[in-house]
Amino acid sequence: MKYQNLHIQTQREFPNNARTAGFGWLVRAGYLTRENEILPLGKHFIERLQNLSTNPSFFSLLAFPFLQNEHETFFALETGSTEIAHCASCNYTERIELAQFRKTPFSQEEQLPTEKVLTPECSTIESLANFLNIPKEKTAKALMYTRISDNQFVFVVVRGDMQMSESKLKNTVGDIRMATAEEISNAGAAAGYASPVGLNTKRAVIVVDDLISQSPNLAAGANETGYHLLNTNCGRDYSPAIVADLIQAKAGDACVNCGNLLSTFATLYLATRSIFNFENILLALAENHHDEKGLTFSKSAAAFDVYLMQIPGKQLDTRAKAEEIYGQLQAAGISVLFDDRDERAGVKFNDADLIGCPMRITVGEKNLKEEMVEIKERTGKENQPVKVEDIISFLKK
Ligand SMILES: [Zn+2]
Repeated sequence: MKYQNLHIQTQREFPNNARTAGFGWLVRAGYLTRENEILPLGKHFIERLQNLSTNPSFFSLLAFPFLQNEHETFFALETGSTEIAHCASCNYTERIELAQFRKTPFSQEEQLPTEKVLTPECSTIESLANFLNIPKEKTAKALMYTRISDNQFVFVVVRGDMQMSESKLKNTVGDIRMATAEEISNAGAAAGYASPVGLNTKRAVIVVDDLISQSPNLAAGANETGYHLLNTNCGRDYSPAIVADLIQAKAGDACVNCGNLLSTFATLYLATRSIFNFENILLALAENHHDEKGLTFSKSAAAFDVYLMQIPGKQLDTRAKAEEIYGQLQAAGISVLFDDRDERAGVKFNDADLIGCPMRITVGEKNLKEEMVEIKERTGKENQPVKVEDIISFLKK
């Protein structure tokens, strides 16, 4: 393709809204606008990536460190919007809200009799644990929802020291919304002091985290404002309809596979199975392939294999020769960006570095007199003189 047909406009300055280096270079090189819209050069690159994505080793070809589970692929990036949990030891990778981890039950203790106690102004786990002078893991936290499909009231119990994952709950019971005050009182519960004990199970489905059934003697609400129950025991005092993993993993939890500590961080989401987010893949490529002059895409994934440019001559028509080479390269199946502008050599060299094709061919008068051109790898230092007739075999080796 020709430079002018793609209407490429490179930029001298980094956009001041660039949150990452990769985004900044993509804007400067003319792949994207500052507003993150894809320009023709970016569209062309994405089309090539789409063709490449039929290859089963697609992500390996892109030559950047990606993270993968059975069905999804991610790229670690501070500004990414998908948080994952990851085990560096066994490579376990999962979205944070769905990640599993090893839970540690407390040591077994005898089930004690339930006791109703006055707990004024203890409507949060923190205030309750403080008031009773017990650790938060000795409390049961109640969360109340209504299932959207059938308006079923759903009463959830997790340990007070843990955070429920709404995604895990949805996977267990279906789509839900927060229950209204009216729905809570209809089920016989009291907001802030809600308990699974004594709940009207005709009106409420009790769902507990799998650790609750192994956690004896928890303090829970008494379904009466200002009161809690000490020593509630799942199975003895109430019977859950569903027991499932409902807890959101956090950094430092033990990996479900190997027990090593999980870390959590932001990523760019790249794909679910063979459904790709090519705009994010383009950004991940740019994050990983750039230097101080611009983008440095690899041979396996670049907008074009070759950047072809000519320097105007005084005696020889370098332009005509460059056109001829352009035709030959295309006929040989090599993808070429031909810089067909009447610009100074320095401008073209800069733009070639910005755009980041893996190879650059320069057609200049001095070399052409000996039927030679100069070829430079984008990441290499040296210009190499190559005979015009050998260009294709040089590029293909
Ligand atoms: Zn692991």
